[in-house]
Amino acid sequence: MKAVVAERMLSTEIVAWKRLSHRKRLPVHLILFITDRCNARCGTCFYWQNLNQGESLLPEHIEKISDALGELVWLDISGGEPFLRKDIDWICHRFLDCNRPRNINIPTNAIQTAVIERSVRGILAHRGDFRLNIAVSLDGVGEAHDRVRGVPGNYKKALATIEALRRVREEDPRLSLSVVTTVMRHNIEDVKQLLDLGLKEWKLDYHSLNLLRGTPMDGSLQPPTPEQFAEISKLQVRLSRHYFDGRWGGLGGWMATLGRFLLNRYYMQEIEGHPRDISCNAGDVSCVIDANGDVYFCELLKPVGNLKTYNWEFARLWNDLLAIDQRQRVRKGCHCTHECFQTKNLIFTPWRLV
Ligand code: SF4
Ligand code: SF4
Repeated sequence: MKAVVAERMLSTEIVAWKRLSHRKRLPVHLILFITDRCNARCGTCFYWQNLNQGESLLPEHIEKISDALGELVWLDISGGEPFLRKDIDWICHRFLDCNRPRNINIPTNAIQTAVIERSVRGILAHRGDFRLNIAVSLDGVGEAHDRVRGVPGNYKKALATIEALRRVREEDPRLSLSVVTTVMRHNIEDVKQLLDLGLKEWKLDYHSLNLLRGTPMDGSLQPPTPEQFAEISKLQVRLSRHYFDGRWGGLGGWMATLGRFLLNRYYMQEIEGHPRDISCNAGDVSCVIDANGDVYFCELLKPVGNLKTYNWEFARLWNDLLAIDQRQRVRKGCHCTHECFQTKNLIFTPWRLV
C-alpha cells in the first residue's frame, strides 16, 4: 500500500522507468486494437485493408492478454473505432485492475457523441489513479474534415463530442482531452486553424500532430514538404510549451518542450529524405496486438506471430524466434515518424534522437 501511495506522487516518466526496470521482458506500453469495425472511411487510414473484416478480441482473449502482461504504463485502446465496442469500459477496468496503467489513451473519430460520453463516464467509474485521454481526430476545419473522413457532418459531431467531454472533464480531472491531427501537404492552413481553435476555443490538454504514415487509403495524399513541416513544427513547439507548462510546470515543461523540439528535428530528417536509423525500443518497451490476434512491434512492421497459433500465450510468442530475430534487426537500426513509438524512444533513450 505504501508503495502504491509513493508511486502516485511520481510523474509517469519516473514510474515508466521504475516499471521498466522491474518487468520480466514484457512491454510496458500496449496498443490494443479491440475491434476492426469502423464507421468512417478516412483517406488517411493506414489500417484500411484490415477494417470491417469481422475481427474483435473476445472478452476471454482480453483476459488472457491482460493476465499475461505485467504492469503497464501506457495503454492505447485502438481500432477501428474503439467506441463501437459496448464493453470498452469493462476492457479498461480489466487492465486497470490487473496491469495498473497510468495512462489510458483512446483515439476516436468522435462521431457518436452520446455513446462516447456514456462510455467515458463508464471508464471513469473505476476509482483508480489513472489518466484517461480521449484523442479526437480532426484533420481539417468544417467540410474539409468531412471530406478526409468520408463522413458528412463528422466535423460538427466531433465538436459536439468535444463539448460533451469538456463537461465530463469538469466533473473528473482524471479525464484529459486532446485533438490529434494528421499533417499532410494539402491541409497545412487547416492545421494552423485547428491548433489555434484547440488552444483558444476548446481548451485542450494537448494537441498531437501525426505526420501521414503507412500506406493511406487515399493514395493521392502526401506528407508535408520540409518547408511546410518547418512552419508547423515551430508553431507546435511554441504551443507545446503552453500545454506542457500547464501539466508539469517550470522545469518539467521546459524539458518536455525540448523533447518535442528534438522529435520534430528527427522527423525533419525523414521528411527531407535522409532518415536517420536509431535503435528503436518498439518490440521491447512497446507492443501492438491487432483485433485478429496478430502481434506487432509496431504497425509499420510485419507481425511476429498470431496469438491464436500460440493458444493466446503472449510470453511464448513474444520470446519466440521470429520476435527475437525482428528485435535484433530493429535494434540494429530503424526509422519512422510514428509518434506513439518515437515518444517512447524519447523517454527511454533520448540520446539516440539528439
Ligand atoms: S483512421 Fe480510424 S476512424 Fe478513420 S477509417 Fe481508419 S480506423 Fe476508422
Ligand atoms: S522505428 Fe518505427 S518502424 Fe522501426 S521499429 Fe520503431 S516504430 Fe517501428
